[in-house]
Amino acid sequence: MLTLPEYSDVVAAAKRLEGHANKTPVLTSRTADDEIGAKIFFKCENFQRMGAFKFRGAMNSLARFTPEQRADGVVTFSSGNHAQAIALAAKVLGMPATIVMPEDAPEAKVAATKGYGGKVVRFNRYTENREEICANLAEKHGLTMIPPYDHPDVISGQGTAVKELLEETGPLDALFVCLGGGGLLSGSLLSAKALAPECKTYGVEPEAGNDAQQSLRAGKIIHIDTPRTIADGAQTQHVGHYTFEIIKRDVEDILTVSDDELIACMRFYAERMKMIVEPTGCLSYAAVRKMKDQLKGKRVGVVVSGGNVDLAKLAGYFADA
Ligand SMILES: *Cc1c(COP(=O)(O)O)cnc(C)c1O
Repeated sequence: MLTLPEYSDVVAAAKRLEGHANKTPVLTSRTADDEIGAKIFFKCENFQRMGAFKFRGAMNSLARFTPEQRADGVVTFSSGNHAQAIALAAKVLGMPATIVMPEDAPEAKVAATKGYGGKVVRFNRYTENREEICANLAEKHGLTMIPPYDHPDVISGQGTAVKELLEETGPLDALFVCLGGGGLLSGSLLSAKALAPECKTYGVEPEAGNDAQQSLRAGKIIHIDTPRTIADGAQTQHVGHYTFEIIKRDVEDILTVSDDELIACMRFYAERMKMIVEPTGCLSYAAVRKMKDQLKGKRVGVVVSGGNVDLAKLAGYFADA
């Protein structure tokens, strides 16, 4: 039996993050309110340290290490925001971090991770297994492994974003949260159930990678091939064991949106709200737009998960639209 994290763990995580994580702004937009016919509250984690909510879960996990664990340090595998989050959190806490990244990971991401002081170990993702490499490093050097989503401390840390949102807005009727492995969604559900029990919380994933929607329908975790989508933060092949238990118990439903809908949304954020949001961060509001007939007159929360996008790519999305 798994011992699932609870809202009290989110409260404890919020204490650990004080003075380290940004309390990100909750923005509103008259254009969005008029378009949806509702009151929309955007929780802007694109303004979190290192550009995404992942700093919350990473910082909470590392802050719980014992002195022995701290001395040896942390190891993880990721080519995305989790790598940078772990590297930065380790730097803040003064401990070593080893990040296992594919040989063909974008150089900008490798550079960003090294910039935060992380030690990068490259591997060939066609011939080697990253989880095995991590496990070997952990064993050989006494490192503690922190995975990107399926860990109680990661989930509790991610839950602090929606805790802040609801403390600022008061109860909401509906909440939209993107999901890859489900760390952010499951943490958000812990906060939403505690602070706004009537709120209906929806998970949103890319159409091409609807494994969580399939899993929810099947009642068990479904594995898929790496989906082709511009939402690179949601290119996971399956949800986690911890995250799925919470999602299955508390989520209202899981919705999907297309890449074209994500691009339209990215353009809305840039033009109307003057902010850069990465494709994965657009999932939540893209789903609100699709569901707007059911949201008339409601108070709706939208978690904007991150803003790390290659500017040349961003220009390309806008040029084609
Ligand atoms: C990691 C990530 C996600 C997905 O989070 P999960 O906890 O894996 O569901 C969504 N958006 C951004 C920007 C991310 O970095």
